[in-house]
Amino acid sequence: MMEKLISELKSVLSDGAVLEGDDAAQKAQGWTPMGVPRAVLRPGSTEEVSQALRLCHQAKVAVVPWGGKTGLVEGTFADKAIALSLERMNRVIEVDRMGATATVEAGCPLQALCERVEEEGLFFPLDLGARGSATIGGNISTNAGGNRVLRFGMMRDMVLGLEVVLADGTIVTSLNHLIKNNTGYDLKQLFIGSEGTLGVVTRAVLRLRPLPSSQNVAMVAVSDFPALPKLLRRVEKELAGTLSAFEVMWEDFYNLVTTPPAQGRAPVQKGYPYYVLIESLGGEAGTDGKRFRQILEAALEDGDIIDAAIAKSQDECKKIWALRDDVAQVMQLAPIFTFDVSLPIRHMEDYVAGVRAALRSQWPNARTLVFGHMGDGNLHVIVSVGEHDAQTRHRVELTVYEPLAACGGSISAEHGIGLQKRDYLSLSRSSAELALMSRMKRMLDPDNILNPGKIIPL
Ligand code: ZN
Repeated sequence: MMEKLISELKSVLSDGAVLEGDDAAQKAQGWTPMGVPRAVLRPGSTEEVSQALRLCHQAKVAVVPWGGKTGLVEGTFADKAIALSLERMNRVIEVDRMGATATVEAGCPLQALCERVEEEGLFFPLDLGARGSATIGGNISTNAGGNRVLRFGMMRDMVLGLEVVLADGTIVTSLNHLIKNNTGYDLKQLFIGSEGTLGVVTRAVLRLRPLPSSQNVAMVAVSDFPALPKLLRRVEKELAGTLSAFEVMWEDFYNLVTTPPAQGRAPVQKGYPYYVLIESLGGEAGTDGKRFRQILEAALEDGDIIDAAIAKSQDECKKIWALRDDVAQVMQLAPIFTFDVSLPIRHMEDYVAGVRAALRSQWPNARTLVFGHMGDGNLHVIVSVGEHDAQTRHRVELTVYEPLAACGGSISAEHGIGLQKRDYLSLSRSSAELALMSRMKRMLDPDNILNPGKIIPL
């Protein structure tokens, strides 16, 4: 039956759109295991996506949509399934300067879009480490977050319109350009963050912002945990809408990324308990820098900050950001388990201390690094215990996830659920919520062909 399906797919899709064997296996390279797909489809248009899904739906064969394959929760695992790569649909279709919107195909890489709209004096504010390969369709399917959510929201907040293809091949084109449009259910939100389980995103209309004309970045140190939220609220108020990142690093993360073999050097001396990268994006290149400095100097005088280094050039801004983004140093601790939890700021200090202690009691040599987007309540927790087998993984996951339920936290702030967190979803969602998700899945994909087993158990 699979043979028949593949030959039908070849007949309806354009030349080179169906990869099999080694060609398919070679494409299955991502940041997490992807298995070996039976075939990889590379449609060139929405109509081709529709044709492909119609045939797979008739044959009741699993289809796993692929974007840039840089997800961290095994949402693209496609062993023995048909993978549907949007890589050929990578165009920026239109940039509307007056309306400040961009219409793009799902396979367009995030960075390519950002560079394209910059040429028009516009700005697409989503910013994350995988920007070079992550695609807009993947960002939408996973509701990507990243470094500037504090100011601009998550992907969900940047999408105005969407085109999706449903499991049976039905095309739903809803390429709305309006910011205000209350005409019934906001259907696009159903698909944003659904990780390819409800439909395949093919095109999107995105909201753009004016390109900032100033960027100011500082690394500061504070004396204790309560100083962090105090500083956050202070700079949020005083920077009056221009605060764009508030990235906290616990001391051990800071030490790791500023000590050889790391490339980076400490802009602020070591030995403080917490460090914060503060960024402001503004519109007055002449005066924003002065104002940024005054605000931080006043915080230093008041003791809300105990040390600070302000970047004096674009190059210094980049160097400070590079510390925050130094994935290579984090990988040095491999084998590692990575988490992206979120929880109310008032519970963070106790949560981190509790997780660290619980890990140490089970693995005396455990290393735990914590950093993240504190302005959004989102922490990244990196755990290294020396082992990486399935049983160890489960024990580490329970240790990190279980305390979240009691404080209203989430097991996934921005990475999604995929296969990796599926079995823990009930820690963050009620049984009524899970039941409604299952009903929605059955309604839109009754034969369970779209990314089966992801988010919701089979
Ligand atoms: Zn993040």
